[in-house]
Amino acid sequence: MANRVKVHGIQPRKSLGQNFLIDEGITRRIVDAAGIEPGDFVIEIGPGVGALTRLLAERAGDLVAIELDQTLIPALQEELGERSNVRILHADALEVDYAALTQGRPVRIVANLPYYITSHAIRVLLESHIHWRCIVLTVQLEVAQRIVAKPPDMSLLAISVQYYGKPELLFRVPPGAFYPQPSIDSATLRISRDESLEETVDIAAAAFFRWVKAGFSQPRKQIRNNLSTGLGITRGVTEDILRKVGITPERRAETLSLSEWLALAQAGAEVSE
Ligand code: SAM
Repeated sequence: MANRVKVHGIQPRKSLGQNFLIDEGITRRIVDAAGIEPGDFVIEIGPGVGALTRLLAERAGDLVAIELDQTLIPALQEELGERSNVRILHADALEVDYAALTQGRPVRIVANLPYYITSHAIRVLLESHIHWRCIVLTVQLEVAQRIVAKPPDMSLLAISVQYYGKPELLFRVPPGAFYPQPSIDSATLRISRDESLEETVDIAAAAFFRWVKAGFSQPRKQIRNNLSTGLGITRGVTEDILRKVGITPERRAETLSLSEWLALAQAGAEVSE
């Protein structure tokens, strides 16, 4: 694939995390991962000069591509040609009102994200109350590994993503797939909506995350202490709630599974009612 960045005479901006995909095979695998079917609505975050966008536009019914850097937009338009199913939105993807943009339509989201906005962008998307079918993200390998982690290596990020969906690390992306080359490895991750989980989760997200955030407030400390301090409940009550759901009070937050967090927050909500 021609290096579109050079063709258009673009100077990649490090401050905007601009490492553009130049490997055709990897680009295709990322787009394949979204499982787009005819008529599907797709949002791309950070289209750059359109490596993913061109393929997405061929497969999607409608595509909205959100790019912050105004200087890339003429090149992007040129790459896409006269496609009537694509809308380029010049905006900060962290500030977009996704509910208004999607109007209740199911959507697939694809993004090769700048490293510095990864966690923030994931949070914005997951908490946006839109009907996403899957989110395919190319991120720093280490972040992808943290997101798909299992006990005893859980983190607030892993729990947050796994609460909303099922993340899978699909494949690694070497630095040579980008121009300019980043200094670290990347990976493509797909978060699929876990419909079965939604039916069983009967605790509100806000209440759930109050417990999880308190639990992780002091990494590597016992969960009993973190919860008691963070939530302002006595150690005795905290221990009773933990024992009620079969969690030893001396355990650390990193060792709890998603279902244990759900049970814990549920039991905690019942006690404080
Ligand atoms: N998708 C292209 C590709 O794979 O070649 C570009 C990927 S590059 C890693 C990230 C892109 O996100 C850049 O085009 C950058 O300008 C854009 N970007 C950075 N911050 C953004 C934000 N807050 N909202 C929307 N786009 C952003």
